[in-house]
Amino acid sequence: MNRLKNKVTVITGGNSGIGYGIAESFKNEGAVGTVTGRNLDTLNQATQLLGGNFLGIKGDVTSIADLANIFRKTNEKYGKIDALVVNAGGAVDGHAMGTIDTVTEENYDAWMNLNLKSVYFTVQKALPYMNDGASIILIGSTAAHLASPGMAIYGAAKAAVIYLAKGLSLDLLSRKIRVNVVSPGSIDTPVFGKLVPAEEIEQVKKYWADITPVGRQGSPADIGSAVVFLASEDSAFIVGTEILSDGGFTSMS
Ligand code: NDP
Repeated sequence: MNRLKNKVTVITGGNSGIGYGIAESFKNEGAVGTVTGRNLDTLNQATQLLGGNFLGIKGDVTSIADLANIFRKTNEKYGKIDALVVNAGGAVDGHAMGTIDTVTEENYDAWMNLNLKSVYFTVQKALPYMNDGASIILIGSTAAHLASPGMAIYGAAKAAVIYLAKGLSLDLLSRKIRVNVVSPGSIDTPVFGKLVPAEEIEQVKKYWADITPVGRQGSPADIGSAVVFLASEDSAFIVGTEILSDGGFTSMS
């Protein structure tokens, strides 16, 4: 399939989990471009597995200087960008999530910086290098819709990401750049290793599979196919909205 033949794409956090799955789906549709992350080892592994279609650029999405560097280097190699996938996010290294009685200002800022502020500035720093008519896909979460204990800050950040897609779509109408969100349900990725002790990971994954109406966790490829659709001309009339890819979690729980 060649729905994204030679389309230049940037996938933040494309070295792991959902981001890597999205990069594979884009590669399978003929896209080229850049995957980013902070971990050079996983970045090198990812670019090798993607077989030369993708350049790996190291960068921290909470650093505006790093973001500017990612898009400048992508532009130098490939020219203007056709699709931007703002995926990097999720758990913050070294900062456990907490409830209202435990969260410090530093924790709050770290979670908001990664899951909301970085999204806005990733888009801002990419825009000068994007083609008119390009597609921007933000990765949200079902946490924006259903609350879980100790997840208030993350859920609030992801809810704001859905709003960003609407507001940014309006800002970008004159350039015909569409902004949409794909919100995953529970997806089997390395994030579980960051959130729970190693001996509990399988039990936690089983819990999520059991409470998901279709009876399984999603895979990164499940998210990749939704993102490919939003990056392609097949979704030309879909603007400023959200696709939930969650196995029925938010509608049938
Ligand atoms: P992973 O932990 O597997 O991957 C997170 C990715 O983001 C990695 O590539 C990581 O790369 C990158 N990243 C994290 N922090 C930074 C940073 N400061 N700067 C640059 N890159 C960073 O998580 P998932 O694949 O599960 O999550 C991907 C997205 O999907 C996130 O936005 C998350 O909120 C969302 N999501 C995930 C769900 C799930 O069940 N897995 C459910 C709903 C939403 P590196 O460490 O090299 O920097």
